[in-house]
Amino acid sequence: MLSLKAVGFDIDGTLYPNSKMYRRSLWFVLRHLRLMSRFRKVRRQIRQVRPIDDFYRVQAEMLGAELAMSPDAAARLIDELIYTDWEQIINHVPVYDGVFETVEALREAGLKVGVTSDFPVARKLGLLGLEGYWDCAFSSEEVGYLKPNPEPFLELAHRLNCRPDEILYVGNSYKYDVIGAVNAGMHAAHLARTPVKNTIAALTFSRFSTLRSWVLENAVSKAR
Ligand SMILES: [Mg+2]
Repeated sequence: MLSLKAVGFDIDGTLYPNSKMYRRSLWFVLRHLRLMSRFRKVRRQIRQVRPIDDFYRVQAEMLGAELAMSPDAAARLIDELIYTDWEQIINHVPVYDGVFETVEALREAGLKVGVTSDFPVARKLGLLGLEGYWDCAFSSEEVGYLKPNPEPFLELAHRLNCRPDEILYVGNSYKYDVIGAVNAGMHAAHLARTPVKNTIAALTFSRFSTLRSWVLENAVSKAR
């Protein structure tokens, strides 16, 4: 029996299906192929860089080096194309079945709920119709480190005013969400069809109704 006080969520691929986003983003990715492939590379590499004093600056310098342009020009590209235009791709993408009911049920059970995700979150939650539900919502880039670094998870605990071991973090990426959360001292729920072999997640689930009943039955005895 866990003793949870809060549940944290990843957004992309967790609150809505990535597959719908990929289909819609095909045109955008083809149109900006070079930028998108270099940006993906930078995002992979920047997860290993420590310490980072200014995440946005380091990200712009790394992408600028890849694209042979100044950090300022790269920063503008990231702001305009990645953080703004690309985000619009999820406009009207339906969230997973049961997301609203689950978040409401968790709140009713006395749990706090939060969102921590790579990529800016505020407008995205609005586009998904999910604004106004959360005790806190912020992006890992605001904290200065992407997942699976511990900083975004520890910031979530700080903002929810809970210890890490009182938090269940829910995400679709084993490598970034599950491992990151468990390394930061949290429990993890992995959204996946089948559990990873020897999984360290407390729960692997593919339907939000499963997550909801598991949390309510197994983890909220001392939540109130
Ligand atoms: Mg995700």
